[in-house]
Amino acid sequence: MTEEEKTYLLEKGRSWMLPEEQRALTRCGLTIWEKIVERRKVQRNREYDEYYGFLDNNTNALVALGEDALKLKIAERLFKNHKEQILNTCPRCEKLARTPLAKQCRHCGFDWH
Ligand SMILES: [Zn+2]
Repeated sequence: MTEEEKTYLLEKGRSWMLPEEQRALTRCGLTIWEKIVERRKVQRNREYDEYYGFLDNNTNALVALGEDALKLKIAERLFKNHKEQILNTCPRCEKLARTPLAKQCRHCGFDWH
């Protein structure tokens, strides 16, 4: 898996991620202050935790890895299990298309509709 493929999997592969992977990535995007505020909201309303998983052991274990290791772990799982569905490469130049469903190459202009 190249660095480009890793970035592509993390940016375009959200719908193939497990709920705890999505929650962990969402939490990585929060500042420390936002984490404190959101955690307080969860303490008041447990249903709110569906979004962040502060009360979910699987999500907390992923967050504990740290952002870099978390992203690598998710990208490796997506690469292993969903590579063909997510990584959309041009049949002519074999570079990555803009999205998993694109049918025209942004690099060489080839169209495979
Ligand atoms: Zn191409």
